[in-house]
Amino acid sequence: MDNEYIPVEEKTADLKSPTFPHVIQITAYCMLVEDIYGITPSYGILKYKNAEFKIPYEERWKKLVLQFREKMLKDIERGETHRNHNNKRKCNNCVRKEYCPERLL
Ligand code: SF4
Repeated sequence: MDNEYIPVEEKTADLKSPTFPHVIQITAYCMLVEDIYGITPSYGILKYKNAEFKIPYEERWKKLVLQFREKMLKDIERGETHRNHNNKRKCNNCVRKEYCPERLL
């Protein structure tokens, strides 16, 4: 489609296929583009170190973004949230690791 804004997320990782969190992230960017410009992008782009993927902007991903948003809003309302993974590497690269009581280091 002509005249559409395509969000691009560039990662430093050298991955051979898109990860689920990255697909959710680029879908959220597609939703922002749609909201701000009033034009629905047909896809977003995930760029890794040596590979690039067109991620179709699909309703199933959009529903998940909205579900995650709902959960985040409830966590904010409750005033607490907890680690949802067991990935030490993720904590090691996290900007909040110095203050996070649940970090895996
Ligand atoms: S340091 Fe804390 S906030 Fe960061 S990824 Fe680990 S658990 Fe999550």
